[in-house]
Amino acid sequence: AAIGHYLRSHIRTVPDWPSAGVQFRDITPLLSNPRVFRVLIDQFVHRYFDLKPDAIAGLDARGFIIGSVLAYELNIGFIPIRKKGKLPFTTVEETYELEYGSATVEMHTDAVRPGERVVLIDDLIATGGTMGAGAKLLQRLGAEVVECGAIVDLPELGGSAQLRAAGLPLFTLVDFA
Ligand code: IMP
Repeated sequence: AAIGHYLRSHIRTVPDWPSAGVQFRDITPLLSNPRVFRVLIDQFVHRYFDLKPDAIAGLDARGFIIGSVLAYELNIGFIPIRKKGKLPFTTVEETYELEYGSATVEMHTDAVRPGERVVLIDDLIATGGTMGAGAKLLQRLGAEVVECGAIVDLPELGGSAQLRAAGLPLFTLVDFA
């Protein structure tokens, strides 16, 4: 809980961005301060050291920042799950609903092998759509999503509850009501 408060104090809230009424939680101050960045990454390293996943998957784009450093520290591979149209090889894709319209994420078909145990990382869970779509891609290729990890949860949007109800273990460090 103390760590949560410490990390929260380094997240900036930007009102009315990207649109009126939205309180955007900006994690860039967590990254620019080397001491805070290390504390942040170490939370995930300690969490996953014993769990020994086979790989870390990260969601485009802030999930890449946390996920790749975590994979490096755990000495395991990193799998990017990207917004549609960025990956060159054969892909699987998953489309999910947004407040207005939809979004599609993609992953290379050879990124995981059946039975591999993967931790899925992003910066923040709002409606849970992005994390849920990423988990589905991994599962469709036969991987086991052993946990979804994020820095921030916005519990009032119901995403984290929905993901847990769908059977996905979840780990987050900071809540914003
Ligand atoms: P969801 O799919 O509704 O759960 O939204 C989560 C995705 O949108 C994540 O990939 C986040 O990076 C991004 N996102 C939504 N709201 C915020 C925010 O307030 N701060 C940072 N990222 C956000």
